[in-house]
Amino acid sequence: MKITVVGTGYVGLVTGTCLAETGNEVVCVDIDKEKVNTMRNGNVPIYEPHLDVLFERNIEANRLKFTTSLDEGLEHGEIVFLALPTPEDEDGSADLSYVLNVSSEIGKKIKTYKVIVDKSTVPVGTAEKVKAVIAENASCDFDVVSNPEFLREGFAVDDFLKPERIVIGSSSEKATQLMQKLYAPFVRSGNPIIVMDEKSAELTKYAANSFLATKITFMNEIANYCEKVGADVDKVRAGMGTDSRIGKRFLFPGIGYGGSCFPKDVKALQKAGKNENYDFKILNSVIEVNKNQKTILLPKIEDYFKGDLQGKQIAIWGLAFKPETDDVREAPAIDMMNGLLKKGAKLTVFDPEAIPNIKKQFGDKLNYADSMYQALEGAEVLLICTEWSIFRTPDFSRIKKELKNPTIFDGRNLYNVDDVKKEGFKYVSIGRN
Ligand code: NAD
Repeated sequence: MKITVVGTGYVGLVTGTCLAETGNEVVCVDIDKEKVNTMRNGNVPIYEPHLDVLFERNIEANRLKFTTSLDEGLEHGEIVFLALPTPEDEDGSADLSYVLNVSSEIGKKIKTYKVIVDKSTVPVGTAEKVKAVIAENASCDFDVVSNPEFLREGFAVDDFLKPERIVIGSSSEKATQLMQKLYAPFVRSGNPIIVMDEKSAELTKYAANSFLATKITFMNEIANYCEKVGADVDKVRAGMGTDSRIGKRFLFPGIGYGGSCFPKDVKALQKAGKNENYDFKILNSVIEVNKNQKTILLPKIEDYFKGDLQGKQIAIWGLAFKPETDDVREAPAIDMMNGLLKKGAKLTVFDPEAIPNIKKQFGDKLNYADSMYQALEGAEVLLICTEWSIFRTPDFSRIKKELKNPTIFDGRNLYNVDDVKKEGFKYVSIGRN
């Protein structure tokens, strides 16, 4: 099939590449000239495990092409995916300007039947808006389908190739059949393609992300309470998670959720509720708790230094909002670093992939280390903000040798408390002391 993908970020590029992998001819359109040049030169502009192999293979096979021209893209594809940003607007709602502006252009440009597929995360009613905007100028038939994306950064290729489910919101039989044909190779093991109306599809994505953010936040509150009463959140987690109604996943406490999705999606659903005079009380709390959680270690670090962080050098491991990505959008590390810098601390940071993105925001306010151990040189203490697997079994004797004070503030509960203490460290983690 001939496919066009507009927007080649984490979602669009993975979508385009994986659809090419099943034999489709894909043209990806992006407004960012530098990005398109990078891709035309055979380089993947983001860090996403396993993407490079598929990317190279499909470019070589001539199934994956890149352009800055929307005309060229629309000339090509019968199915046109919108994988455009829907960032948080000033009032917390989802900013639909990217989606609606491109839709308006599509209306002016299409000459033959197209299915416009919204893969961006958008509020209920957006498919209707997209339809209306295209219809203003369209001189041919078209359908609009809502197809929210559930991939996780860091596992995006696997998630796309083997999705647990695909959600299609559509009121057109023709468009639904095309989508089912396109996705059939990805659900051969029997995972469902769930077809529903557009509004329900749009809400499914917000409901899923808000539920996951709530689950994390609930566990963070349990962890905070554990600290008050001397319980151990690891044990509570194990005891709870074995209940199949609860499940083991998403129960790990830490310094809050971040990323380009959960924070903005929870806020967008909260705001969408307000627009209908519905107060999502749970989401209000999730947002508030998570905001505090991101800097929950800050007062502990301050206490450790008796309130004086001026000139204190702190090593930080992990900057990305989660492991296996270079994405730093809304990363808890950013809140921690801003808090520490404000108090006068000096920071030497290390992340396996995210340093270029952090440099764009922090420039020379930070010292950047080339390795996890180099970050420790001359530092008083170590702070861990992201659970990259290379941090899980470090050489503790080396950490101890490098740090002026053998102390670890661990925002991701990477180590066994007793083990680290036996190694001679003071160890501060979440919900376990
Ligand atoms: P992104 O910011 O990584 O990528 C968006 C891309 O769109 C950029 O390359 C940008 O240059 C391009 N773009 C902007 N305006 C354009 C235009 N007019 N024409 C062509 N290209 C244009 O975004 P993302 O993380 O891929 O997210 C895209 C959507 O998918 C969002 O709605 C997001 O909420 C949703 N989503 C993201 C994830 C995720 O893990 N990142 C997962 C599921 C859903």
